[in-house]
Amino acid sequence: MLHNDQLAQWDRENFFHPSTHLAQHARGETATRIIRTASGCHIEDRDGVRLLDAFAGLYCVNVGYGRQQIAEAIAAQAKELAYYHSYVGHGTEASVTLSKMILDRAPSNMSKVYFGMGGSDANETNIKLIWYYNNILGRPKKKKIISRWRGYHGSGIVTGSLTGLELFHKKFDLPVDQVIHTEAPYYYRRADTSQTEAQFVAHCVAELEALIAREGADTIAAFIGEPVLGTGGIVPPPRGYWPAIQAVLKKHDILLIADEVVTGFGRLGTMFGSDHYGIEADMITIAKGLTSAYAPLSGSIVSEKMWSVLERGTDENGPIGHGWTYSAHPIGAAAGVANLKLIDDLNLVENAGKVGAYLNKTMHEALGDHPNVGEIRGEGMLCAVELVKDRDPRTFFDAANKIGAQVSAALLGEGVIARAMPQGDILGFAPPFCLTNAEVDEVVGKTVKAVNAVL
Ligand code: PLP
Repeated sequence: MLHNDQLAQWDRENFFHPSTHLAQHARGETATRIIRTASGCHIEDRDGVRLLDAFAGLYCVNVGYGRQQIAEAIAAQAKELAYYHSYVGHGTEASVTLSKMILDRAPSNMSKVYFGMGGSDANETNIKLIWYYNNILGRPKKKKIISRWRGYHGSGIVTGSLTGLELFHKKFDLPVDQVIHTEAPYYYRRADTSQTEAQFVAHCVAELEALIAREGADTIAAFIGEPVLGTGGIVPPPRGYWPAIQAVLKKHDILLIADEVVTGFGRLGTMFGSDHYGIEADMITIAKGLTSAYAPLSGSIVSEKMWSVLERGTDENGPIGHGWTYSAHPIGAAAGVANLKLIDDLNLVENAGKVGAYLNKTMHEALGDHPNVGEIRGEGMLCAVELVKDRDPRTFFDAANKIGAQVSAALLGEGVIARAMPQGDILGFAPPFCLTNAEVDEVVGKTVKAVNAVL
């Protein structure tokens, strides 16, 4: 077996890590942690350090680690047929079955699923299909996409533009022209402290209306949003936000993409976030929870309204010129089928709702009155603790102090993984759905210790 020091050296010399301070890592200032194995909600590294993963990887290992049913389905698929493409009517039992399983679970206006590999490429597909759709409808000018500040939709050229986080634009010449941003529904940070939730929703709506008026509704194709802002800080929308936004979009004939990469398949305690908030999207993006990350697979679910136009488009123009080699990859599809079965068999959506509610309640009880905790918020199996310098008057820490990262590091020292969200001092929790109440108690108890150690 290779020695850890050898791996750390090869890592620094050869491995270009995503979302990493490259110079610090090359200098050895960030450690190389080689993960060896995992089971349930715990991961273990090669030094035998066992950590409770309260972020489910990157909020994706929803059913928990080490599920033999999924591993066996992947192995069986690899032995029988590791790969065949899905162009021009080809499929596998797994990919066809999975498409039916997804549509059986999706909102009733949805019609078909286009498979990809990850959330970013699925959102790229969405944008291309929406442009195609408007061209078929004879509206070549209607192409701009509205996204929210603090939204996260991926790291590609268009999707990195849709993402409304500074870090993902900086020095990349993003966003591209066709992407425009509007207000984030982030009541705690964005609302005037005298504003009620309803007044803040009215402000978000007014901002959106003003943007549409400025750009011209005939130039705007779609609006994209996560039911709950994820990477932007785990921010559930204020009450009434989604119906109010949807009314504006309908009025101006602007399509809605619900990016359910994080919320799809149970994280909010409902199968989709759209079910939870009554969102009627024209497209839904799925990835992470589709396979619980046992294999890469994503999807763009397309509504019947769009499908009928796309179908007509191919009669007029020939085959649709959009395809990935790995679309509907058999191994990903086999993982997806086994994963969705497991979610049903173990009632994991219900568990995410129940244990998530316990997590949020317990976190409130333990830290709600802490002088450096401005807000604790969440929905289902998502929870955020926002750290502030002062609660009243509300004062935030200087970003350079990296307080969120410091608390997350202290928590790691206690054996629990929570994510310091990229913008603001926000500690994010998004555990696997199989988390138990006893594990919640451990996560919360150690979070209190970590917050008190730093603040
Ligand atoms: N959309 C949302 C809401 C996400 O949270 C993410 C990733 O975190 C993506 C899209 C991009 O997915 P991927 O990293 O698989 O490309």
